[in-house]
This record gives sequence, C-alpha cells and structure tokens, in this order.
Amino acid sequence: MNLPEQLIRSLQNVKGFDEAAFIQLHQSGEQVTSVRKNPAKILDGQSVIFNNQLQQIPWCANGYYLDERPSFTSDPLFHAGAYYVQEASSMFVGQALQQTLDLSQPLKVLDLCAAPGGKSTLIQSLISAESLLVSNEVIKTRVNILSENITKWGAANVVVSNNDPKDFQRLENYFDVIVIDAPCSGSGLFRKDAAAIEEWSINNVQLCSQRQQRIVADVFPALKENGIIIYSTCSYSTEEDEAVCDWMVEEFKMESVPLKVENTWGIVATESEIHKAKGYRFYPDKVKGEGFFITVFKKKQEAAFSATQKKERKTLQQVTKTEIEAVSPWLKNAADFFFIKQNEEIIAVPLYLQNDLQILQTALYIKKAAVRMGAVIRNELIPHHELAISTIISTAIPSVEVDLETALQYLRNRKYK
Ligand code: SAM
Repeated sequence: MNLPEQLIRSLQNVKGFDEAAFIQLHQSGEQVTSVRKNPAKILDGQSVIFNNQLQQIPWCANGYYLDERPSFTSDPLFHAGAYYVQEASSMFVGQALQQTLDLSQPLKVLDLCAAPGGKSTLIQSLISAESLLVSNEVIKTRVNILSENITKWGAANVVVSNNDPKDFQRLENYFDVIVIDAPCSGSGLFRKDAAAIEEWSINNVQLCSQRQQRIVADVFPALKENGIIIYSTCSYSTEEDEAVCDWMVEEFKMESVPLKVENTWGIVATESEIHKAKGYRFYPDKVKGEGFFITVFKKKQEAAFSATQKKERKTLQQVTKTEIEAVSPWLKNAADFFFIKQNEEIIAVPLYLQNDLQILQTALYIKKAAVRMGAVIRNELIPHHELAISTIISTAIPSVEVDLETALQYLRNRKYK
C-alpha cells in the first residue's frame, strides 16, 4: 500500500502523527472489524456474532471488536437490525453526545450527512424515546440505504429526509444538536479502502475544506442558541479538521467544547492553530479503529425559533376510525401514537412528535417518518414488513419460529422503499 507522499509530508508537524508507525500499520494488512449492538433489540446468546467473549470498544458501551470478519449477510440478526457493523473510531460520536448533553431530556437532533446511517443508529440508541432524530442525506441515490438501515433499527422517533443543508434554514433555531459527519477526502479510510488512495489529492483536500465550510454555514441557522454542533471527518488533513474549527470560531463565534478522553484510549487531543479549539484525532497506529477527527462547539448567538414554509404543502389522506381500530391492536401502546396515511398505508407516529412532524413536513422532503404499519383492507391490517421489524409492535402478536433459510429469505426480501 503506497500512501500519497504529499499526505505524509503535510502531516509532519501535526500532533500525534508518527510517520514510521503510520506507514507500518498501513503496510501490515491488519484489519479491524467492529459492531455495535442495538440495545432495543439484541438478545444476548441469540446471535452467532455475540457468542464469544468479545472485547468491548472502550468509548462505546454497545460497541465490540470481533476476532474475525464473519459473513454478516448470513446472519438473520444482521438483517433484522439487531446490530450495526461500524468502525470503532466513529462510535466516539456517542461520547460527544453523552459528555455535552443531558440525554434524558427530549432533544431535537439533526444528523445532516447521514447515509448509510452508522452515526444515526448510534445517536438513536442514545437519545430518549421522546427525542426526535432527523436523519438527512442530500444525495438521492444514498437515501434508500439510509432509510433501510433506519427501518431495520426499528425506532419510531426518526424521520429520514433528503435535503440540501441550506434547506434547513427554513427551520431557524430548531435543533438542539446538529451532527455534521462531513464528506471529506477520506484519508482515514485508506486501510479499509485502498482505492481511495488513488482519488486522494491536495487539490481535493482544499475542495473538501471549502465544501465543509459551506455545509456548516448553510445549516448553522437551524441550530438553537446554546445548541451543540458535533463536526467530524475521516480525514487527517488539518485543512478539513482544525482549520475548519478556526473558521467556525471566526465566522460564527462558536465556543469550543472540550471532551474527556482516557489516556489508555490512544486518542490524541489537539488544538486549532489560531483559536485553540479542541479537537480529537484518531490514528490507526494508536487506536484500534480507523482515522477520524471530531470536535464539538456550542452556539452562542441569541436566536428564536421560526419556520419558513416551503411553497408546496403535502396533503395527507384522512385516517378513518375503522382504520385506527384495525391498526391499534398491533401496537404495544396504541394510545401513544397518532396515525397518518400515505399511499393507502398507515404510519404510526409517536404522539409527542405531532407538532414537529407538521413543522418538518412544511420545511423538508421527507423520505420516511416513524413506522409504516401497512394498509387496511376490509377492516384488517395487512402488516408491512417495517412494522414486523420495528420495536413498537405489540408482543401479543403471535410469532413463529422458522429455520435459518426462511428467516434470511424473509428478512432479505423486504421492501422498505
Ligand atoms: N454519517 C454517515 C455514517 O455514519 O454512516 C457517513 C457520512 S459520509 C462521511 C458523508 C455523507 O455526506 C455522505 O453520505 C455524502 O453523500 C454526504 N454529502 C456529500 N456531499 C454533501 C453536501 N454537499 N452536503 C451534505 N452532505 C453531503
């Protein structure tokens, strides 16, 4: 594996960079596989993946290293969203949330660059049931995989949207937290994806840095006063990391928020050159994970919420009393939900999201909200796969044991789109 010389040269004076160890690690061919359990679903002992004594990822309670990479696609629990295959460093986003927010409170969280859904599923497991996660992806072709992963995760408090960052300006001062896992030059993933080396260039680092600033600037108005921005990349280049931090302080007077890291974790704490904003670097020769950078800021500007409506307003079909009677027995707590209908299918949305869903519908292109239950035909619900895989389905609904092949066939043949 030949790493770009220009990258190595550019990192010479960056804190924590150890050229020899970094190159040696990339040449060793060593790979790390890790997964994160879905606490709302996993039943220990049921998955072959979790049968052994696994090493826990020190900064993530539900994260584990696997001794080898199994065939995930032959495990029904993988398809059922009982765990998510995610590289370990990026699970540190959970620490950023836990250390800077009271997660027992109802929060409105935006995961702006969300596909395929690694950070979103992590965030969903940490926020309270009364919180809302808007999981957004701008690139249309990537929204389906995001929707699919969110559906498999099974929670009702997630809305998947397909919007450009600047569309969120219609939701001024709305979110408590915005997570920006920014598109980047990708040097942190060279070990996993050698093809990315060919695409790397100094020029692309510059372009990414400009795009990252544009993304932050576009979405910034949507953050409340005292709201938190968690910004991360999988690039080692300071132009995409510490320099963006300095720019955020200069442009928006944001306040850097420090995080605690244990010495044994191998994470390198850095400071931006001008404003000394705190950042955290993950080098694969120091942590058991891929290259990653994360930083947290607080918004200090005064602000009040205001929503600007999009011109077109989606008209939802009316849900009848008979339909509500047909779908209610399928839910654990039907009284906690209200129902909407789209394309003849009933969607169950948590009651406390009623106002928010209306606000979001006027501002965003929503790809998926809460849990699709299915269509009511002749007073009976024809349940959708999405309901079966969700965590809101009533435990009184009979379940049947099936063999491995049947389970895989059922779980793979789902249609979430
Ligand atoms: N957060 C994801 C996860 O944990 O699974 C990974 C996100 S990836 C690092 C960056 C995402 O940003 C990609 O899905 C990409 O399509 C999206 N993206 C690309 N250009 C963008 C832009 N101009 N604005 C916002 N997002 C963009």
